Amino acid sequence: MQNNKLNRANDAVNSHLLEAADILEIPDSYRKLYTMPWRELQIAVPITDDRGELRVFNGFRVQHSGARGPYKGGIRFHPEVDLDEVRALASLMTWKCALMNIPFGGAKGGISVDPDLLSQRELRSLTVRFMNNADHIIGPFRDIMAPDMGTNPKVMGWMMDAYGAKHGYTPAIVTGKPLALGGISERTGATGSGVAMITRHLLKEHKEDISGKRVAIQGFGNVGSYAAEYLHEMGARIIAVSDKRGGIYNKDGLDIDLLIKHLKREKTVAGFKDSDPLDGEEIFTRDCDIIIPAALGHVINDKNMESIKARFIVEGANGPITPVADKYLHDKGVIIAPDILANAGGVTVSYFEWAQNIQVHKWGHETVNIELDNIMGQAFENVVEASRKYNVSYRLASFILALKRVHQATIDRGI
Ligand code: GLU
Repeated sequence: MQNNKLNRANDAVNSHLLEAADILEIPDSYRKLYTMPWRELQIAVPITDDRGELRVFNGFRVQHSGARGPYKGGIRFHPEVDLDEVRALASLMTWKCALMNIPFGGAKGGISVDPDLLSQRELRSLTVRFMNNADHIIGPFRDIMAPDMGTNPKVMGWMMDAYGAKHGYTPAIVTGKPLALGGISERTGATGSGVAMITRHLLKEHKEDISGKRVAIQGFGNVGSYAAEYLHEMGARIIAVSDKRGGIYNKDGLDIDLLIKHLKREKTVAGFKDSDPLDGEEIFTRDCDIIIPAALGHVINDKNMESIKARFIVEGANGPITPVADKYLHDKGVIIAPDILANAGGVTVSYFEWAQNIQVHKWGHETVNIELDNIMGQAFENVVEASRKYNVSYRLASFILALKRVHQATIDRGI
């Protein structure tokens, strides 16, 4: 039976963290600090809609930890956003940035809204109002936003403009911006590219070749579609893909270039030629080698864990596996690359963008790609080493490394 408490996103993250704290023998008082956000803000976000009516949305910004640097993390526009989820995601950002050893703390924001149901004017006014109401807790050295589910470079441009109207030109207030505003071209595909890099490292570590491997990807947005492209280039076969409107399957591998054209036209992968339709849930239970959940949280859980046939799972999404399923799959021998390692390419390139904005100096493409490779490769090596040293899963090893760094920074601050 699924433990009800662990069904809550924030308790799930904390359950992994506390396991790491046990191994590192972190005192209770510090455990309280690491499982509790430093600050959380609930924001009423009122807008006048296109019909002239007042509508009020719930917004959140949770600043989980600033021990290692300014709070950093995306903002999500999704109807299911709530405080518990944002807390969990903020905490994951702390551990993700620490694991990558980039000088940020962790934060996350969200507005519970379905962006598909708002016009561009309404969305812009929602974004600007959110920024104005969060103004007192953000800043380029305080808290830096970025895209997440339902947000994109356009929204980041609006955010930068809103902040700049009060504080002057401040590109470093957000990352994932449009190129014309000081963004970095690699940022858009960075999370997907990092997912593909970690998949390749993982397979190599387990003496497998990526070439010909069958991959199933849930979610074909900014993470899933780029991961598919890069893995396809590495020689993997993407045999199944799904999004919120449906799924597709082809045992010989989907033509990713054509699929991306289809997606641009139809706004969904469903209905792609040369493929069979697939029911949403089926994506995880089809015979394949690698599963990449790249959409929502808790999608692999006690209801479908027993039907999973893949040997590898690479978490493109944040928190896609419940703790109960994580333990079950680990015990069964499934090798899991956890979110804070696998999807950290996005925030890592965000760090490069932020650094460029602060330095007012543009890095070359080569520098960005080499640095991303170095940081992800180093983190992967450290995780493998720690998993051997402590005889634990890659997830627990990742939390151990991240917690060690945050704990050291906390103590060095005199806390
Ligand atoms: N939203 C992304 C994540 O969950 C990126 C955050 C960022 O770039 O700050 O990692």
